[in-house]
Amino acid sequence: MLPYGRQDIQDADIAAVIEVLKSDFLTTGPEVPKFEAAVAAAVGAAHGVAVNSATSALHIACLALDLGPGDLLWTSPNTFVASANCARYCGADVDFVDIDPATYNLCPQRFAEKLSVAKAAGRLPKILVPVHMTGQSCAMAEIAALARAHDIRIVEDASHAIGGRYRDRPVGDCAFSDICVFSFHPVKIITTAEGGMAMTQDAGLAARMARLRTHGITRDAALMTHASDGPWYYQQLELGLNYRMTDLHAALGRAQLQRLHAYVARRHALAARYDQALAGLALTPPAQAPEVYSAYHLYVVCLDDPARHRAVFEGLRTAGIGVNLHYIPVHLQPYYRALGHGPGQCPAAEDYYRRAISLPLYPSLAEAEQDRVIETLTQLLA
Ligand SMILES: *Cc1c(COP(=O)(O)O)cnc(C)c1O
Repeated sequence: MLPYGRQDIQDADIAAVIEVLKSDFLTTGPEVPKFEAAVAAAVGAAHGVAVNSATSALHIACLALDLGPGDLLWTSPNTFVASANCARYCGADVDFVDIDPATYNLCPQRFAEKLSVAKAAGRLPKILVPVHMTGQSCAMAEIAALARAHDIRIVEDASHAIGGRYRDRPVGDCAFSDICVFSFHPVKIITTAEGGMAMTQDAGLAARMARLRTHGITRDAALMTHASDGPWYYQQLELGLNYRMTDLHAALGRAQLQRLHAYVARRHALAARYDQALAGLALTPPAQAPEVYSAYHLYVVCLDDPARHRAVFEGLRTAGIGVNLHYIPVHLQPYYRALGHGPGQCPAAEDYYRRAISLPLYPSLAEAEQDRVIETLTQLLA
């Protein structure tokens, strides 16, 4: 079975991990700050806080922005559940802004409309989590202008988008956000097995997130409530978590990062082959906004005829092609339905769900394998 995505592990990655295994520190050693600095430099952020998943990064990002009970977070329904769950971990409520059917991303017009309703009702969100679906940046300038006018903080869920660009700036430089989160899960652009990182330009937010990932503890005497008891001393200032990344994972990530641009270029080359081969079939290939250079985490096609969706999807799987569907609208999950969400709330995301199929796309996908995907899909749609 061809997967829809998979990691690429090379000798340099293996050597980097073995070196850490032979060293003094398996965790809280030098590899984590080195990886943080390398990612920050690659994406133009002042700070990176490495954690054990993007889910953890989203959680500490929300905590650092003081999201709590009674607060509201808005995100896209067309995402992995973690983009919404981060609010629930903080005791806050979630609502969803429908997508632009062309880009599959949170729609600035729907955002503007929803803001006027929320403003009239006196219940504006504290945080917006735009998700760069498939690796293509959201329309951040428009979204950030609306958010700023309403005093809403922005946490970008860029789990798909490291290596991507928007208006000629790297995703992750937080030009239009407070914090930007990457995932290093094996299907994503680069991997640490499990892992994530929160990027920010704000030293205060970075320090707070670094403290929250390690129990809310500090060794900084300047932050303590009284003079240090001695060299052993630390203080817990608030309730944090153990979300630390290990040095093994950080070393793997730093080795992978060196191939970031090669990976994204290879994804573009494969996407261009799909674009060309699938033109003329009864489907819409992914649209690319001119101001965006996608990281191309996913190649999603939308079938013209939703009535054929299931049969085509199953036909591909039967042929050994591990297609997937990103995403089941989050507001339709039983957990969110029990909180009052449901069908009809985000019609564009619901229509997308009836048509979307993610085709295999990853750097080591061979052209011959891709041709098999193209031929099978062409036959199924004939
Ligand atoms: C993968 C993913 C996450 C979660 O990432 P983890 O590192 O597995 O926690 C969150 N949001 C989106 C959009 C993702 O694709």
